[in-house]
Amino acid sequence: MQVDYLIIGQGISGTFLSYYLLQAGKRVLVIDENNPAAASRVASGIINPVTGRRVVTTWMIDELLPFATKAYEDIGHSLGCNVADEIDMVSFHATRQMQSAWTDRVAEGADYISHIHDTARYEKYFHAPYGAGLTFPCLLVDLHSLLPEWRQKLRESGSLLEEWFDIKQVRVSPGDVNYKDIRAEKLILCNGTGGFDNEFFGRLPYTMNKGEALIVSIPGLPGGAIYKQGMTIVPMGGDIFWIGSSFEWAFQHSGPTAEFRTNVESILSGWLNLPYSVIEHKAAIRPSSVERRPFVGLHPAMPSVGILNGMGTKGCSLAPYFAHQLTGRLTVGSGIHPEADVLRFQSLLSRG
Ligand SMILES: Cc1cc2nc3c(=O)[nH]c(=O)nc-3n(C[C@H](O)[C@H](O)[C@H](O)COP(=O)(O)OP(=O)(O)OC[C@H]3O[C@@H](n4cnc5c(N)ncnc54)[C@H](O)[C@@H]3O)c2cc1C
Repeated sequence: MQVDYLIIGQGISGTFLSYYLLQAGKRVLVIDENNPAAASRVASGIINPVTGRRVVTTWMIDELLPFATKAYEDIGHSLGCNVADEIDMVSFHATRQMQSAWTDRVAEGADYISHIHDTARYEKYFHAPYGAGLTFPCLLVDLHSLLPEWRQKLRESGSLLEEWFDIKQVRVSPGDVNYKDIRAEKLILCNGTGGFDNEFFGRLPYTMNKGEALIVSIPGLPGGAIYKQGMTIVPMGGDIFWIGSSFEWAFQHSGPTAEFRTNVESILSGWLNLPYSVIEHKAAIRPSSVERRPFVGLHPAMPSVGILNGMGTKGCSLAPYFAHQLTGRLTVGSGIHPEADVLRFQSLLSRG
């Protein structure tokens, strides 16, 4: 079999890279083992333009958010379904200090955030003694539709191999890449934490960050907003909600823990006024980078091999944008943002 691009991984990164390359008229084969514990299959799918206790605007969000809004609209059209919506995020202030930090940021004229004056309307659902702030627009991506729908599209066009990819069987030359009976012009690794340990990009400063989430039923809670206070409650349709998450840099294993569940129960007992029941408990490792910037581009010494990885906590906003930039690099030789281009590690990657 001969293709232009062999892509490893169909998380959010491999999904958008294969989408843009197919749009550009290229022949693509995606190999993905469909790991249910991959970050993209556990994530809630939020693009939140602000972050942290200081409510700081996130890196490049003024460009990333409109780009992502259009990208999800376009891929949704190609699939015949809606895969993302703008949504309010209601952040309940846990303490008086957090309330005044929010007030200060609003007074400074920070983008995307404002006060909610009428918090009484949430009293039936939440204990909210310090009020709440609004973040708008956020984007909520329906990863649980997008990933399987795009997978089906790849399957139908003969562009998907559903198996484990063994990187040891790859033979790379300056002009092409061979894997089993597949010949490709280039191999692009979009395989999240599965791509951390290999001869091509294994020296990059990766790091792993574990996150857990509960899928719960909360009858009576309105599904039109994301709610936040220590944990984030994300509507998934009907009375089903996603609750998460943890951010652990040190952990003993990648699976769900009793500690996380106890922590969620403790937060909800002081915040949520409605009964709930737990349906599922999930965990995944976020493929992160030490300097919190993605890894995008071609290997400086082996340009038949490329990478789209290191999305960390922000795959939903970073993956569409940088998959598009990588497609431009591959098809017309255009540039990649210098803070994301893997060539910033040129000397590290070129060392013998
Ligand atoms: C609990 C939690 C909540 C999160 N919430 C959000 C959020 O709200 N918003 C946001 O933007 N981000 C969120 N994230 C982060 C987000 O999930 C990641 O940034 C993103 O999913 C990374 O996507 P990826 O495609 O690069 O990697 P992955 O999702 O890890 O995908 C890698 C793919 O490669 C495949 N693969 C790997 N190795 C092989 C192999 N050898 N052979 C075949 N296939 C292979 C896997 O099956 C998988 O499909 C969250 C993460 C977690 C854990």
